[in-house]
Formats: sequence, structure tokens, C-alpha cells
Amino acid sequence: MASESFGFQAEISQLLDLIINTFYSNKEIFLRELISNASDALDKIRYQSLTTPAVLESGNDLYIRITPDKENKVLVIRDTGVGFTKADFVNNLGTIAKSGTKGFMEALSSGADISMIGQFGVGFYSAYLVAERVQVISKHNDDEQYIWESAAGGTFTITPDTVNPPLGRGTEIRLFLKEDQTEYLEEKKIKDVVKKHSEFISYPIQLTVVKEVEKDVEDEEEEEIKEGEEKPKIEEVEDDEDKPKEKKTKKVKEKETSNEELNKTKPIWTRNPSDITQDEYAAFYKSLSNDWEDHLAVKHFSVEGQLEFKAILYVPKRAPFDLFESKKKRNNIKLYVRRVFIMDDCEDIIPEYLNFVKGIVDSEDLPLNISRETLQQNKILKVIRKNIVKKCLDLFSEIAEDKDNFQKFYESFGKNLKLGIHEDAQNRSKLAEFLRFFSTKSPDDQTSLKDYITRMPEIQKSIYYLTGESLASTRDSPFLEVLKKKGFEVLLLVDPIDEYAITQLKEFDGKKLVCVSKEGLELEETEEEKKAREEEAAAFNELCTVVKDALGDQVEKVVISNRITDSPCVLVTGQFGWSSNMERIMKAQALRDSSMSSYMASKKTLELNSRNVIIRELKRKVAEDKGDKSVRDLTYLLFETALLTSGFVLDAPVSFAKRIHRMISLGLDVDEEEDAPAPAADTASAAPENVSTSAMEEID
Ligand code: ADP
Ligand code: MG
Repeated sequence: MASESFGFQAEISQLLDLIINTFYSNKEIFLRELISNASDALDKIRYQSLTTPAVLESGNDLYIRITPDKENKVLVIRDTGVGFTKADFVNNLGTIAKSGTKGFMEALSSGADISMIGQFGVGFYSAYLVAERVQVISKHNDDEQYIWESAAGGTFTITPDTVNPPLGRGTEIRLFLKEDQTEYLEEKKIKDVVKKHSEFISYPIQLTVVKEVEKDVEDEEEEEIKEGEEKPKIEEVEDDEDKPKEKKTKKVKEKETSNEELNKTKPIWTRNPSDITQDEYAAFYKSLSNDWEDHLAVKHFSVEGQLEFKAILYVPKRAPFDLFESKKKRNNIKLYVRRVFIMDDCEDIIPEYLNFVKGIVDSEDLPLNISRETLQQNKILKVIRKNIVKKCLDLFSEIAEDKDNFQKFYESFGKNLKLGIHEDAQNRSKLAEFLRFFSTKSPDDQTSLKDYITRMPEIQKSIYYLTGESLASTRDSPFLEVLKKKGFEVLLLVDPIDEYAITQLKEFDGKKLVCVSKEGLELEETEEEKKAREEEAAAFNELCTVVKDALGDQVEKVVISNRITDSPCVLVTGQFGWSSNMERIMKAQALRDSSMSSYMASKKTLELNSRNVIIRELKRKVAEDKGDKSVRDLTYLLFETALLTSGFVLDAPVSFAKRIHRMISLGLDVDEEEDAPAPAADTASAAPENVSTSAMEEID
């Protein structure tokens, strides 16, 4: 039957070119990738068979077999996995690019190594590191046997297979090796590569080996075998002198093929941890994760009692390129039941925020034929999950014992911990121990909440924090003025997710977490301080009312502040609404439901600093004349600058700029309306006081 021709999707074509043309010596990883695909395909059929045993009628034996064909320079990798349907061939090998296709090429151009290919989900194409042409012959239970073939160059073909022996089920990959890659036909080389990269594959990996064996044959055909003919080799057998020489036998060397199993080690998690070396853990981690680097930390444990399982959990050194690509299913914890692989995308085995932890869990109690649906309600799985979370937290504590390691860990996965604080109420306080923030007393080195507490002056009762866009924008915020004076440390939270986490956390070690830019900040103060503040407030009552009238709906209240000592004023938000930082973040999220914004958006309170000269002068002016127009205009300027210094976004920056420009003109003593240099002398002659009042009055 005719073959159909297809074009590779453009990015895949590009990737193939890159694989073929890049000089790269560590080509052996192709075998790891193809074996890993074979193992995945076997996992799939085994999983199907748990609920539908009939799927194995096309073949019970689950294995991977490598057969070198030296004569034709072809390396064959066979598996009895699920196989490809014709549609699978079209979709999975060539016409649909995954996000990793581009991702991998970008990574390569910024210095990544080709051996990282597996992490990007395009491992199959590594076959072209060693092969000039690749055939994939496959039989899926739901379709006929087909041959996929390509020598790269932009196209591939799919042909119904009428030439090869039937596979029953599964896939055979034939690599037509490049002239200089024939070392991969050598037994020793294959064994080395499999040992190095695929030791922990849980299906037998067989190598077809050819041995010359000696066989006794009767001597009758002696004459038929001509001298110098190579196969089979025959040697004269030196018979014993005293034996009767009636029947001469000859020893014939014959080639015999057999399948040698290369990965006989028993599953690493079933072994005693004290017998396992760090190298073995690292090798297992790599086989599990496709990572090219060692893990950062590992925990191997077993739980016994009412429920029994063994597990190995790993924390990687860094986050994968698509950690927060939300739609992607992560295959991180492989679930086994009594050594049988069940699935690698079980969502209920570990919470979402721990999606960076990799490993395996092998349960003694779950039923083998458990389905995805029944798993969700399964009580055993719930207990396993709880244990896993606890062990993960233990593992993080171990990482925290080494400051450098923990810093690496926190850079990569700090966001996950913060998500955890948001999501996992049960472990919230434990997770909070891992948080690290910059602070007014620790501006260069992130501090833990525990360390913060050790620095608290005796009088201080709460833990203070300020959220904002960056260290630069929070470090000198007016909100910090009084706290700095009192020697109270303030945490500076500059990661957008910080505020979600910390508002959920509410307290740490019995101490309230208090946002210093929100209403109702109760600073520990002495009786005298309190009395003085109350008197001040009373004295400024009139000014507060006038300012509130001028600003109208833009502020909820105007009060005298207890948190600023230098700035004239700040804008604080309601205790349960958004902070200025949250408002900024929410505004940036364009698709946000706008009804939510009007409800949550900060009700602002303007706090005035009664000790500031500007405010004192305003008070004096108001006392003199409540209707003084300049007070209203100055109030606007103060309000708008407070928006900025308090971390809000200006709604009308242009009118703010106009006001500022007018102020500048006043400062320079020029008339802004006037563009050209003044021709006559009389324009500059107005008295300065007049300019001041008349110009200010025009501002609205
Ligand atoms: P990944 O394994 O990360 O999905 P690959 O490029 O290695 O990416 O493989 C692409 C796809 O081709 C796999 O997802 C799988 O669907 C299919 N595939 C590859 N090898 C086999 C195989 N031996 N048997 C069945 N399907 C396979
Ligand atoms: Mg793969």
C-alpha cells in the first residue's frame, strides 16, 4: 500500500536540524531517551491492563529489547508497550509541536546542553544524534501495524506495514546509524550506556547477544566443509589414543543468540537506605526526573503499622522551565502498588504547592486495579498524602540546616512555600518557619520570622511588615518613619505573592503580623506618648475636617497620624481591604472582575503628621480663614504626592503634573503660560504674594 508523506511542523524541523548539525559529543543519551519512551509505553499498557486485562491478549510479556545488527549497521530498540496508532504517529512524531520544542531550542541557544532534551518533552528526536534515518514500526491494539520513517529533511512518511513480521503489540525503533556512530552496535558500549543512564527502569531491558558455542557433531560431513570457509568453524578434535576410533566427532562453533537482562537490580526503594550510596540515589533521581543535575536533597523512608508504604522524595536543585505553566500535568510522584507501577500523574498524592518534589511511593495496601476516580476518595491515599507532606517539610528543615543550600532552595521554590501557606491551613505555621524576607534591619540578607523575633525590643508586641513593588520603593517609605525611630524592625515584602501568603498567615509564634500601611496601627506607646497624641489630634480637628471636605469621596477619613515623623502625610487603607500594593497588583491583572475591585479596593484614610511644618502651616491658615482657597489646592497636591509615596498608582497623572509645574513656575517666579521670552518689562513686575495666591487659585 502507498505511503503517505507529511511535513514536520516548522519548529520540529528546526529542532531536527539543530540536533543533526550541532557538534556534540555526548550522543549516548539518545539511548536513555528511547528506553525511557519504551518504559512509558509499557507503563501505559500495564495501567490499562489493571482494569481491562484483555489488552494484554496481544502479548503478556512486558520488556524492552535492544538488538544490534552489525551487518546492516542498524540498532533496534523494541518494546511491548502500548504502541502507536496511525493518528499517534501523525500527532506525536512530527506535526504537533509541544511548548518544549521551542523551549529547548531557546535553552540551547542560551547555553543549555543537548542532554537536557528529555526535560523538554522532545526526547524522541535525540535518535538523530546517531542515526541518519529512523524507522518506527508500531502496532497498537486499536490499529494496524504501520511504519513511520524519516531521514529528517523536513518530511516523514507513514506506511501500512506489509513487509515486517507482525509485532503483536508495541514498537520497534530502527536506527540506521551514521557511519561514525557504529560503536553503539558494540555489546560493551550498550551495556555501559544502559548501566549509566537506565539502570532503574522497572521493566527488563534485554540485550540480544550473539555467542559462539561449541557443539559436538558427527564427523560424516567432514569432507563437505571446505578449507578456509568461515562459518561454522571446525576444529579437529584430538581423540584419546586408547578410545576406539569408530566414530569421529567434531566440535562445531555455532552462533547462538540469547537475551541478556541488563538491569537486574531490585527496586532501589525496597532496599535498606544504609546500603544505598549517594551516587545511587542521584542516578535514580535522574532516571525519574530526566534532570541532568543531581538532586538537592533526598528522603527515603518507610511507614509501617496500620498502613504500609515506602517512598523516596527528592528536591531538585532548580525549578523546571515550566513550573508555573498551570495547565500542564506534572508527573512527579510515581505511584506503585506492591512494586507495580500504577500511574505518574496522580493529583491526590501530593498537594499542588509541592509540585516540584519528585519521587516514588510504593503502597502495600492500595488495590492494584484502582482507578483514577476511586483514588480520589480513597482513605489510604489520604493518609499517604498526609505523610508525604510531613516528610517534605522535614526534608525542607534538613535543607535549612545549610544556609547556602537553603538559599538556593528558597530562590527556586520560595513561591511554592508561599502558595502552601495560602493553601495548606494545617501546615501553615510549619511552612511559615521557612519564609525569608528582607527587612529594615536586614536589608541585604533575607531574615526568617524566628530571627526577627529575637531582635524585637521588649516593648514590641507584633511583627510589622510593609508590602510594595520593590526594595527601593519600600526601603524609604514614610510608613516606616516612626517604627524606625522606635527601633521596631519592619519586614519588606516585595514579591507579589507575599501579601497573599502573609494575610493568610495572620500570626507567627503567637505574634500578630501587622501591615504598617493599613488603618488601626497600634504602636506600643507609653502613657505620655498616648496622651500627647490625643491632645494633638484634638488640636488638629478643624484642619482634618477642612481637608476631608476638600478631598470629598477620594478619602474615607482624615486623621492625625501616629506612624510618620517626617513626611507631611500618608494614605493608609482599611484593615480588611487591599493594601496599596495589592491594589496595584489587582489593577495590573487586566481580566479581574471589576465589581470585586470596587468592593475590595482600598478605602483610603489620609493621615496627617501634626509635627510637620507644612501641616502646621496649613492649620494656621485654616484657623485664620476657613475659606482660604490656597488650602484646598495645597491639599490636592499633598493628597496626590501621598498616593505616590504610599504605593498607589495615580489615576490622573497629567493633572498632577500640571499642579507640580505650576509650583515650579512659582518657585522660579515665572509665568508658565508664557512660552516666548517676555518682550516687555511689566509682566515680571507683579508682587510675589499676588502671584502666589492668584496662580494657586487657578489650579483645580
Ligand atoms: P515525551 O516522552 O517527553 O513525551 P518524546 O519526544 O520522547 O517526548 O516522545 C514523544 C511522544 O511519542 C511520547 O509522548 C509518546 O506519546 C510517543 N512515543 C515515543 N516513543 C514511544 C514508544 N516507544 N511507544 C509508544 N509511544 C511512544
Ligand atoms: Mg521521552
